Amino acid sequence: MRNKILLLATGGTIASQPTQSGLAPGLDGEALTDMLPSGVLSQYEITVRDILRMDSSNIQPEEWQIIARHVFDARESYDGIVITHGTDTMAYTAAILSFMVQGIDIPVVLTGSQLPIEHPLSDGQENLRLALAMATSGQRGVFVAFNRKVILGTRAVKIRTTGFDAFESVNWPYAAQASGGGLNINPAALPLTGEESCVLRDALSPKVFLMKLTPGVDPEIFDALLLMHYQGIVIEAFGAGGLHFVRRDLVAKLQRVAQAGVTVVVCSQCLYEPSNFAVYEVGRRALAQGVLQGRDMTTEAAVTKLMWVLGQTNAPDAIRDYFEHSVAGEVTLP
Ligand code: ASP
Repeated sequence: MRNKILLLATGGTIASQPTQSGLAPGLDGEALTDMLPSGVLSQYEITVRDILRMDSSNIQPEEWQIIARHVFDARESYDGIVITHGTDTMAYTAAILSFMVQGIDIPVVLTGSQLPIEHPLSDGQENLRLALAMATSGQRGVFVAFNRKVILGTRAVKIRTTGFDAFESVNWPYAAQASGGGLNINPAALPLTGEESCVLRDALSPKVFLMKLTPGVDPEIFDALLLMHYQGIVIEAFGAGGLHFVRRDLVAKLQRVAQAGVTVVVCSQCLYEPSNFAVYEVGRRALAQGVLQGRDMTTEAAVTKLMWVLGQTNAPDAIRDYFEHSVAGEVTLP
């Protein structure tokens, strides 16, 4: 019996065509699957739904909720779901979906390409084939399939603007890799799953700001965020965990931010390895203000987790508890 796959098309480069104003998504999902060899297509029973037709730079929290709703509603009717999506914000969508449909018991696989699928050198067909293979693997969870590698949705980061090797799995092994031996799943890289059934938890707060520190940044920037009613701030701090308090006292400002009820999560500007703000004085002073540690989370996972957590609760203890647990494999706890 052929595997039943739902393909949700959302646009992106894979579906793009040249227009007078530059590349823009033009192809629908049917046209994408038509680009695959008939021998590949004959192995699946694919249902296509065109849910968005956007460059992923325009995909925002409202679109995440649309995608999550489609995934949730379809989960019992298909063996797996493939989502074609632009690469630019795919890592954000993969991470937030991992939180919104946690516990889903089929594979949900995002893919796209660096060149439009109609381009003679496109990576689109190959990525789509990989996504279809992963979608029939029976492995539950949200994944990104790209360039013969499958990455857990909460660990994917886009690291290249044009190279076909566009995504990396950060601080976590690949969930699967395609080789001459077929699709090799790495069970150790799959999310820990309880037996709980999947519930759609798509509430979120879009009022989360990401701040990358630079030496000498003026602490008053946080006052502007308070005035704009931000509810959460993720700070990409220096190295293993530090921010300045000499002359320009970010630590004192964090105290004000915390008193205003804003949740602050600190992580590192370094892509690899965990941050630990308990190591240096410059980090410990920040922790003393009640900031939460992002540890080895990617920025994409930290930002979307904070948005999602603030949609679930506004109780400080409950927020802290979420950050002391892994919801969808996004963080390695000590
Ligand atoms: N700008 C495109 C998008 O994210 C890039 C891509 O898909 O590769 O929609």
